Amino acid sequence: MIRVELSMLVFIYLFVFLAALFSIWIAYEWGRIRREKETLRYRVRCTICATIFDDKSNATLPRCPRCGSLNERLKIGGL
Ligand SMILES: [Zn+2]
Repeated sequence: MIRVELSMLVFIYLFVFLAALFSIWIAYEWGRIRREKETLRYRVRCTICATIFDDKSNATLPRCPRCGSLNERLKIGGL
């Protein structure tokens, strides 16, 4: 009887430990994906010279810093 209870306790301990580890991992991944999306929101790829640059202004047609052409803001990743 005691043996069974002990193994059950070990099982519960392992389960709680893994659940905690998993939730920490999920929270970390979620934060990382959110940060990535935040940076991708301002990412613009020039259609003329293929330069990738960040444009944090609200201009609908951001200007390429390399060739000076106007670019349409691309939606990367859907959001
Ligand atoms: Zn360009």
